Amino acid sequence: MGILEVKDVNKRFGGLQALGNVNLSVAENSCHAIIGPNGAGKSTLLNVLIGKLIPDTGSVMFDGQSVLGRKPYEINQMGISRVFQTPEIFGDLTVLENMLIPIFASRDGAFRMHAIENTTSEKEVIEQAEHMLEELGMADKRHFHSASMSRGDKRRLEIGMCLSQNPRLLLLDEPTAGMARADTNNTIDLLKQIKEERDITIAIIEHDMHVVFSLAERITVLAQGSPLVEDTPDKIKGHPKVREAYLGE
Ligand code: ADP
Ligand code: MG
Repeated sequence: MGILEVKDVNKRFGGLQALGNVNLSVAENSCHAIIGPNGAGKSTLLNVLIGKLIPDTGSVMFDGQSVLGRKPYEINQMGISRVFQTPEIFGDLTVLENMLIPIFASRDGAFRMHAIENTTSEKEVIEQAEHMLEELGMADKRHFHSASMSRGDKRRLEIGMCLSQNPRLLLLDEPTAGMARADTNNTIDLLKQIKEERDITIAIIEHDMHVVFSLAERITVLAQGSPLVEDTPDKIKGHPKVREAYLGE
């Protein structure tokens, strides 16, 4: 049994079958990639996992508990955290201020700006945020204006904001989309470091094969809403069906 078990999930948008009989098992503490051409249903699947979409049929279990019907924040509290396709940080705030937000949110249930001032836990929260920035290698950038950072650093901060909540499952939707090679490599290195240092399961949707083959232990190929094959990176590389459906050969 994997930490995440998706069984027979179907999702239609009108006449379009976005997901058809999706089965997926993600092993605890592994990195599992989901690849597939545009429109294959990858983001739809991720949205089902985080409670943004409810499938028409099927089940999604995380650590033995159903996530279906739960609100996104409840699923987040179960230990699932998601990095969006476009960075979701507050550009006007500093790096440290951004990092404070999820830490306060996970403490108080809701983020209250006034909580930053004049609470007994203020120092503790700032310490926790600074500790997280150190783990990210961003301590020296803590007073930087977030909007002025490189794409790679914005992504690094955003991944750190997810990690500050100590998720057991980190979901990433094309975390390196639109990045220059240096920023992509920077993101790969960060994810490798996270895999080594934490007890965490990573499920990553990714277009860039260099990223997928650098990180994933298992790969599921989605095509037209359904899993085509699931295997190790080595097997996937040579798989004729994958070459045909995904690499266009
Ligand atoms: P991917 O992330 O693999 O590129 P998506 O999951 O975004 O694919 O989309 C799968 C299919 O479902 C596409 O044909 C897309 O146009 C369609 N789709 C996605 N979201 C919606 C929606 N909210 N309403 C209607 N169609 C959608
Ligand atoms: Mg997508």
